[in-house]
Amino acid sequence: MKIRIKGLKVRKSIDKARYWIEKDFIDKEVKSGVIILPTIGCRHARNIGCTMCGYIYDAPEKISNEKLVKEFEKALEYFKSKEIEYLKIFTSGSFFDDEELKPEIRKYILRRVEELNIRRLCIETRAEFIKEPDVDTSYEIEYAIGLESSNDVVRNVYINKDLDKEVFENAIRFCKENGIKTKVYLLLKPPFLTEMDAIKDCINSAIYCKKLGVDKISINPVNIQRNTLVEYLWKIGEYSPPWLWSLVHVLKEIKRRNNIVVVSFPVAAGKERGIHNCKRCNKVVHESIIKFSLSQDTKFLEGLDCCCKRLWKTLLDLENVNRSCYNIDRNCKLS
Ligand SMILES: [Zn+2]
Repeated sequence: MKIRIKGLKVRKSIDKARYWIEKDFIDKEVKSGVIILPTIGCRHARNIGCTMCGYIYDAPEKISNEKLVKEFEKALEYFKSKEIEYLKIFTSGSFFDDEELKPEIRKYILRRVEELNIRRLCIETRAEFIKEPDVDTSYEIEYAIGLESSNDVVRNVYINKDLDKEVFENAIRFCKENGIKTKVYLLLKPPFLTEMDAIKDCINSAIYCKKLGVDKISINPVNIQRNTLVEYLWKIGEYSPPWLWSLVHVLKEIKRRNNIVVVSFPVAAGKERGIHNCKRCNKVVHESIIKFSLSQDTKFLEGLDCCCKRLWKTLLDLENVNRSCYNIDRNCKLS
């Protein structure tokens, strides 16, 4: 709580929409657009929030409806000539939380998006706010919902997600009954887990999602965001971000065990604060993960190797002996 209060004092308060084009996957690689709307941000994060999440520090304390609409229109204008198939509108919170977006603004946005002739719109929301879009659209709608972990202790104690499984399961059921596609976020390596336990937790969570009928899984490896508990633990040597090797393993295992779309576009990959291996292989392993995510073809994850892979394997064995999080130099000393 102290960390959150300190962070909120130095928040950036960005009141402009951010938008860009990137590649993504629906049933093939597609050109997609992303809009981050400057709402007041996630309600949970404004209270205490998740232990790894610092997105709230970008959100403005207040923003008028008129300004929000104006910012959305700017982004819409940008995408008009870009022929995107997939649009993702994020608020760093919940599209269906009335405190963030008034119902009339939501409706307005959903109608205006028609102009882009997209195939699918993705909107992000916490499970407890889920409701019907209230607008008939020519495009498909996908709700992106954070679960992070199917393990109750990992999710609600280590991550502090404040999400009951029942609420999540009802949300998925609601989407299925209403013809809404679902994308679920899973977190790779929450705090207080060893690398091996994090790998197992992520795979188990994916199996749980598949059983519930989730359409797509998106894996977010933890990156160290400012003014979070995870940053505090990292600074005192009690946390280190996951290895790219762990993500490669998780993606392969999920694909092998479940016929489900699984993607990962890690933030800060290869950097000290993000998921990384050693300097020698960061780039090539990261690129392979992106190629896999855009094609769902595991051939891109096969045959990857580097001298640091042995170090990673040794770490998985060693940490079972001494169950603390090793923060070690991952760069190979061999020439
Ligand atoms: Zn390496």
